[in-house]
Amino acid sequence: MSDKPDKLITDDGLRLDGRRADEIRPMKIEIGVLSRADGSCYLEWGRNKILVGVFGPREAHPRRSQRADSAVIRYRYNMASFSTEDRARPGHSRRSIEISKVSREAFEPVIMAELFPKTAIDIFVEVLQADAGTRTAAINAASIALADAGIPMKGLITSCAFGKVDGQIVLDLSKDEDNYGEADFPVAMTQDGEITLVQMDGHLTPEEIKKGMELAKKGCKEILEIQQEVLRKKFETPVEDTVEKA
Ligand code: UDP
Repeated sequence: MSDKPDKLITDDGLRLDGRRADEIRPMKIEIGVLSRADGSCYLEWGRNKILVGVFGPREAHPRRSQRADSAVIRYRYNMASFSTEDRARPGHSRRSIEISKVSREAFEPVIMAELFPKTAIDIFVEVLQADAGTRTAAINAASIALADAGIPMKGLITSCAFGKVDGQIVLDLSKDEDNYGEADFPVAMTQDGEITLVQMDGHLTPEEIKKGMELAKKGCKEILEIQQEVLRKKFETPVEDTVEKA
């Protein structure tokens, strides 16, 4: 872990990576990167690198895991051993089990699971490089991979954290801000702004949470635009093609 910097925010209001309090890190998304998955996405957000593969709806195994009235949604978050500064121990951990659970729950309100009884929809997340905010980055990528797989959803899920650093509320914490800041508050929401995930590490006052939620909404709106653009590019049929086929 790097040494604690004297200041995480300069007197000019700039953060260590040059961002202002309300700015997210640059995000890049590629869709359909895995040929064996039904849907997939590779996402870079700052120095985070995340790969997501979606499989299904497919018959759920073991059979006893099936639900007669809907699909079961399974979400597995995994960190590659080389993804962190210190080697991440392979396999499940309390942290990965928790992240998998809350991320699955973040998607349950939008995935139309009732259309596919007895099946499973599997979302596999591999964190290839971690730099704070991997659960939010993974949710943004999973949302695209689910859409790529053609899973019916009421809308996309978008995720972003805010936190408190040097006493200030800032959007999308970097690694140093996560390590040395006072609080980290990941949020996920539907495109209508309905909250589907909230977690808090650290202490914040109700006023700080209110201010942070406004920042998170702004961040999620920006991310939603990036997600929609990627999907539009992939699925929009060029007008010339439609004319030719008619
Ligand atoms: N991290 C790490 N080793 C671990 C878990 C986390 O180095 O076993 C780092 C990683 O960079 C991660 C960051 O700590 O992104 C913050 O972890 P946190 O549990 O807050 O989850 P995240 O912010 O990634 O969703």
